[in-house]
Parts: sequence; C-alpha cells; structure tokens
Amino acid sequence: MNTKPDILSLSHEELRHILTDTWQQPAFRADQLHAWLWQRGAREFESMSNLPKGLRKNLAEAFELQPLHIQTLQKSTDGTLKIAFQLHDGLLIESVLIPVPREKRFTVCVSSQVGCSLNCSFCATGKMGLKRNLTAAEIYDQVFYVNQICQREFGHKLTNIVYMGMGEPLLTYRPVMKSIELLTRFLPRGTSGEEFGISPRRITLSTAGIAKAIRRLADENARINLALSLHAADDAKRSAIMAINEHNNLKSLTEALSYFYRKTKNRISYEYIALRNFNDSPEDAQQLIRLCKHFPVRVNIIEYNPVEGVPFSATDEERLNAFAKRLSDAGITVTVRRSRGKDIDAACGQLAGKTEEKNT
Ligand code: SF4
Repeated sequence: MNTKPDILSLSHEELRHILTDTWQQPAFRADQLHAWLWQRGAREFESMSNLPKGLRKNLAEAFELQPLHIQTLQKSTDGTLKIAFQLHDGLLIESVLIPVPREKRFTVCVSSQVGCSLNCSFCATGKMGLKRNLTAAEIYDQVFYVNQICQREFGHKLTNIVYMGMGEPLLTYRPVMKSIELLTRFLPRGTSGEEFGISPRRITLSTAGIAKAIRRLADENARINLALSLHAADDAKRSAIMAINEHNNLKSLTEALSYFYRKTKNRISYEYIALRNFNDSPEDAQQLIRLCKHFPVRVNIIEYNPVEGVPFSATDEERLNAFAKRLSDAGITVTVRRSRGKDIDAACGQLAGKTEEKNT
C-alpha cells in the first residue's frame, strides 16, 4: 500500500519547512517548487527544470503527485465543451466550458464531488450516488486544464467559474473553500507569465441549500457569489423533487441567505429549472415573487433537459416567457438561460451519467 503524502495537500509554509529544515535546501527552492505546483500546474517532478535533479528525485521518492487525465473532450454544435477527467483512482468527473465569445465571457462549470448524495429527482448526477469528495487540488486542476483548453480553442482565458457541476459543494466545504483560495491566488491569467488569480467576484458557488453551511460562508466572510438551486418556491413541491428541503426548508434557507447578504453584500441568485406543469404556473410565479422580497436576488430560469428515467419535461416557450414576464413585471431581475451543450449531455443536471455508463 502506498502511504506517501500527497504534495498538493501541503501549504507553502509546510513545503518551506520540509525543504529548509528537513532537507537543508535554500528557502527559494520551496518557492520554486510551489510555483511549479500551482502557477505552472506541473504534475510531474521531472518537468520542474529549475530544480536540481537530485531534489526532483528525492521529491518523487517522498511524495505522491496525482494528476488528472483528460479522458474525453466533446464539443457541442453550440461551442460548449464537456471534458471528462479521470482521477488517480480511476473515477471520473466532468467539467463544462461554456463560451460566449461575443461577450468575452468564458465560464467553466466544475465538479466538487464524484457523484452526489442528494439525489434530486431531476438530476443524472444524483442517480450515481456519492463516490467521494474531491480534494482542493482536484477542483483547482479542473479549472487549470480548462483554462488552457479555453486559451487554445478561443484565444481567451476563463472569465468565470461556477461550482455547479457534479456534487454539492457545501457538503465538501473545506476542499471547496481551499480550492477557491488557490484559484484566487494562483490561476494563470494570461500569457505574460506574471498575472495570477481570478477575482472571487467571478466565482459562483451553487448549492441545493444547506442553511448551516450558508451561515458559515457568511461568518467566514466568503467573497464569492451564491446561487441557490431553488426550482420550487413552495416547501411541499420543493421537497417532492429535492429531499434536502425536508431538513432545510425555505424559511431556514431564506433566513440563512438574508444573513449571508447582510454580512457580505455578495450577489445572490435563485436557479429555477422550469418543469412543465410542475413549477411553471402563474401561482408558482407569484410564490417565487414573494420569496424574492427578503433580500436583493436575481432569478435565472433554466430550460430543462430531459434525463432518462425522469418523469419531467421542459416547459414550452410560451409558458416560459409568460413566467419570466410575471417576474420582471414585479421588478425582479430575471434571465432565461437556454440550455447549452444538449447534444453532448453537458447541460444542467446531465453530467456524469453517460460517461459513467461507458466505464462500468
Ligand atoms: S442537482 Fe446538484 S445537489 Fe441535486 S443531485 Fe444533482 S448534483 Fe446533487
């Protein structure tokens, strides 16, 4: 059994301590090593060309360095890219690159867990169950590689990151927050080789709704945007499609979100997948309008993509537009998001099903 420590789990301080105190190396070697790991994304000690050969050998003997491998890269007719990554233990996760070149907006949607334990009834990922949480490095690496792909395909670096892929980010709280810290400090931002870190204002964490963890984000003064996967503005309906609502009902969630807003003033949005004859009536719109009164919030209505074995279908265009109009007439900022990457199963709630099937 391999018991070597994972070098990507060590802080800069810990690396410095090991290299200087234990291995008698000059302090700048730890800085060089740290830059290789995070700013340059090196995932083989051998490639760290400005470290002495002997040091590279010692590092390889003492530490594990586990890269992600791009297993498949699929391109949708609308330009969306879905990347399946294989982890060191053979498990698969998916990330999605959503380009909007005319707005110079390039968003990556990352996974935070392999599978998900919450089993929302409209979601393919939930059908997998939870295999494990990702580490901070595994989350960071998704963004690092997709940033490279984005520059290669579109000549532009990533502009936005959303934690909206496989898994519930607030159930893997520490690794997710650590990954945000790494991304805001070290993600390469251009070709000069000197610009690093993405603004936390360009990061959105999307949660199915865990009130306690939302309060924790507020208490830790997280500077990111928050999105709640709402999908129904009524407890009975929401519990019918999202079991998490039974212990985190709408009252507890709106109280936690109000607290988050009061403490941070960060942007909050509601994600609302429009499901035909389930949550798309005028009464549903009225309930949603009432729920928007607690704090400033924008609503993103998302076109649904059918998932095999799930008894929901997408709202038709007319109902969708009427629903959105009711909200905007009530003074709510609302956007309707057309589905992206339908032909490659890259849309919301579709991740992991097909790739997983091929490998089992
Ligand atoms: S919608 Fe999100 S929280 Fe719900 S099962 Fe899917 S991945 Fe998990």
